[in-house]
Amino acid sequence: MALERKLKVAVRDGLHARPATQFVKLARGFEAAIEIERDGKRANAKSSVKLMLLGVREHDEIVLHADGADADTAIDQLAAFILSSDAGIGDGPETAPVAAPPSADADMTGVPASEGVAIGPAFAFFPEVLEERPRALAPAEVPIELDRLRAAVAGIAEALTRRATPGEDAEILTALLEVLRDEEFVGAIEALVTGGLDCVTATLRAGRQLEASFAAMDDPYVRARAEDVGSVTRSMALSLMGRQDVSLADLQPGAILVADEVGAWDLAHADMAAIGGIVCRRGAAVSHVSIMARAHGIPAVVGVAIAPERLRAAAVVALDGGTGVVHLDPDEPTRNRVTARIAADAEARVALEVWRDAGPVLHQGRPIEVAANLGTLKEIDAALRAGAHGVGLFRTEFLFMERRTLPGEDEQAATYRRLAEAFAPYAVVVRTLDVGGDKPVAGIAFPHEDNPFLGWRGVRMCLERPDVFKPQLRALLRAAVVGNLRVMVPMVVDGNEVAAVRSLIEECRAELASEGVEHGAFALGIMVETPAAALLAPELAKEVAFFSIGTNDLTQYVMAADRLNPRVAALNRTEHPAVMRAIGMVCDAGSAAGIPVAICGEAAARPDLIEAFVRMGVTELSMSPASILRAKQCVAAIQVG
Ligand code: PEP
Ligand code: MG
Repeated sequence: MALERKLKVAVRDGLHARPATQFVKLARGFEAAIEIERDGKRANAKSSVKLMLLGVREHDEIVLHADGADADTAIDQLAAFILSSDAGIGDGPETAPVAAPPSADADMTGVPASEGVAIGPAFAFFPEVLEERPRALAPAEVPIELDRLRAAVAGIAEALTRRATPGEDAEILTALLEVLRDEEFVGAIEALVTGGLDCVTATLRAGRQLEASFAAMDDPYVRARAEDVGSVTRSMALSLMGRQDVSLADLQPGAILVADEVGAWDLAHADMAAIGGIVCRRGAAVSHVSIMARAHGIPAVVGVAIAPERLRAAAVVALDGGTGVVHLDPDEPTRNRVTARIAADAEARVALEVWRDAGPVLHQGRPIEVAANLGTLKEIDAALRAGAHGVGLFRTEFLFMERRTLPGEDEQAATYRRLAEAFAPYAVVVRTLDVGGDKPVAGIAFPHEDNPFLGWRGVRMCLERPDVFKPQLRALLRAAVVGNLRVMVPMVVDGNEVAAVRSLIEECRAELASEGVEHGAFALGIMVETPAAALLAPELAKEVAFFSIGTNDLTQYVMAADRLNPRVAALNRTEHPAVMRAIGMVCDAGSAAGIPVAICGEAAARPDLIEAFVRMGVTELSMSPASILRAKQCVAAIQVG
């Protein structure tokens, strides 16, 4: 029986990410052949990759086609899915969680990304580029190659599932399995093999075609799925060749990781404590790898302009993450200098230990706190070890990134609560979601923007997406029962945004009360990181409980110099008089209104600027845990007067 039904899609954000996977799962439960048609293009509804590539969005007109014995039930159930706005959206991954993926002396200067000096054997992380080497099969070889292919698919699927543990990677690995088991993807490879092509080349060819189709999509989230396809293709090809990929898990303690770039995903699986230093050809001071390196106190230099072969050939690498200087295979005098510097730094670090238990220092009657910037709960220990006076910035975007669905309210509430408990009685400042088109997040369809840093991000996006923002605010209200939680809003430009956030918080509070859910209250502050907020600071100070100056963004916006662009790094200077004047204005407005002013951008840790900030009236400096002890010492050294 062949049936069709015309429908208007109600699924929020359309059929990608989790809703697409759920839809495919539902479709696979029917015998009937099922296709979705949009704008005259049809896709097999049992293939999530084809479905995602069709790019079905909310409000699109589509036609469902079903042909088979159970076509009528299939059409009814699939139509109900398409017509439900919440279809496929919910907490947690949809299948069993799974874990880890398959998965002569020269000086040069790059971007100083994480301070500290290091020297050690190089660990070259340059995953090999797999080239196609087509081989025509004799007819008798075809079934053997097909068997080999199927065995490789089964082996990788099994390895992925076996290494399964519930955790942060579960959704990513589920997505990889989804690609691996996709009938269209595997079918395309089989068709090439059946046509007489060896299975390694067939895998690379079909995989790259599919990857290119994803990469050409408009939606940044779907586009980012090209990475999943690339990763699965690579694992399959390597397995068929009987080879293994280079893995950060093989890095020996103290080695210097050298690479073109290291993705968040690779780093997430590395033993960070083993990495002696990091040198990358790409990246900027605020790249993920840089933030992670700072959080773990690993010296790092990124954006080093050097040929990959030079970097790859180095046996020993020395680096200074404070100045950005890198030495490849340093000569004896350089080695001695670097080793002496490491010993001196270690001594200085030991000397700094005396500040670990030091509480806030009084300056002109005001306690000056040195707090931690954190992105994940894994960094709590390092912050506590450094004697952080609480958390001045918890970047919640890491909870939302590198996964396939939005984190649920319960998961968020548990995270914020754990954080607040870990640092009590000091305050923990949680920043509401700060993402934009430059960092795709599953479940939020960001439009393509030429200037994502000037686009739909931070509070602008959150206010237009209460379905994303409200669960976060509700989770924060629930975690606020601990008592020391504060919340701040990023990218604010005026009081209207603050009022809109307050009214949403009120709405959430009323909902929780009527549902009988335990909750508390938190002080609401803003990040001052746009020139607009700095200029309106006197008015904004009357609307909020505290200011926290985000010098990373404030500097880039005041100086009109992209914080990720190494070409304009020299303009990206917080100490520029224009930026310092803006900071002074914010401090004056805070003092006049009697609200505290913190700094949570990277400049908060700078020994050359700390005194100036404190004299301007800043009462909290928040930074990577690795910088806390020295900052405490700098604050204590400020002479009164
Ligand atoms: C800042 O802009 O200074 C800041 C702390 O926020 P982020 O670096 O996360 O943009
Ligand atoms: Mg910012």
